[in-house]
Amino acid sequence: MKRLLEKYSAKMVSAGLAETGYPLLGGLDAELEWNREDPAIPVLERVFSGLSINSLLFSFPAEPYRSIIDFLASGDVNFIQPEDSETRTFMHDLPVIRDFRSDMIIEKLRKRKSVIVKGKGIITWGTVSPEQAFIFYSSVCFACFVKFFSDYLRDSRKGEVSVEQERVFRIAQKNLEQYTDKPPLLMSGPYRNREDVYRAVAEAGRLTVEHRLVDSFFGNVSLRWGDTLFISQTTSSLDELEGCIDPCPMNGSACTSITASSEFSAHMGILRHTGMNAILHGHPKFSVIMSMDCRRENCASRGSCHIRCPEERFVRDVPIVPGEVGTGPFGLCNTLPSAMEGSRGVIVWGHGLFTVSLDDFNGAFRNLLSIERMCREEYFRFLD
Ligand SMILES: [Zn+2]
Ligand SMILES: [Zn+2]
Repeated sequence: MKRLLEKYSAKMVSAGLAETGYPLLGGLDAELEWNREDPAIPVLERVFSGLSINSLLFSFPAEPYRSIIDFLASGDVNFIQPEDSETRTFMHDLPVIRDFRSDMIIEKLRKRKSVIVKGKGIITWGTVSPEQAFIFYSSVCFACFVKFFSDYLRDSRKGEVSVEQERVFRIAQKNLEQYTDKPPLLMSGPYRNREDVYRAVAEAGRLTVEHRLVDSFFGNVSLRWGDTLFISQTTSSLDELEGCIDPCPMNGSACTSITASSEFSAHMGILRHTGMNAILHGHPKFSVIMSMDCRRENCASRGSCHIRCPEERFVRDVPIVPGEVGTGPFGLCNTLPSAMEGSRGVIVWGHGLFTVSLDDFNGAFRNLLSIERMCREEYFRFLD
């Protein structure tokens, strides 16, 4: 258990979600263990006994998340309500409390996956492994980031940015991740054997996480090789795909494996439509932010343009499409494949970005990076 706790503490630091020395993780095996000593432990041990969980995570987030979350949680806010799809389908809303008290923490964590303690940090839990707590924590950071930048864009357009909001925006802007000028070279295809395919898929997933184009739990990767689609499993960590890639025959309408990514049918559709073989899907932040921003003042769906906007929208050349869960007319598997034809990528409203390439992941990875960079440029261009 101790090794697992240390693993996820290190992952939080390398993902830029917390500073070294801050993550506090507890895990219950035969007995309760912590990754380090901390004065918060007695309170958290009471939380453990009040919930049926096996792990807890408590940490102060690193910048820019720290300032952003402090800002969103300021005043008499009782919860934060982000509108991106990760939050809507996964977290619902993000409760906020004032005091670091076990009874209040337990009350919130009974109903939600996280609680934000004002000025102190984020608490999340897991029932199976500390990995869940890590996933929930990174989702809170992602959602708050997207909400803050979305709100700022909306408010600045209306000329309604507050002094405090402006101050936090400056801090956040200073702490944005630096994009690499040189995308890494991935294994080049076409691949000679299945082992190479597995290695290439795992490598593409790992680099997508390392370049912070997705939180490790979300996103997916696939590659068609021969008559088989090799696709990441639905609950896998994208940076640890070894052993979590499902081979699915291309000639079925569905994958026989129940573990294959929930976006399996969208991947199949894209391959059939475009003739490409490699697909990458991440949740890069500014692609998500730009996709939720409808500039049409009198849009018929004003207020819900992040889910269902009747406007045909693009970020420069890249289309934005609806992509609801399921197989309805606005479901991913119906909107995405045709939009991908002739595009270097497609952004799904409030959700993320899909890119494709022919024989290996190099083109898809370059496009993922360059579209996200373009979305960030467009964001700051709109502000000017
Ligand atoms: Zn996704
Ligand atoms: Zn709209």
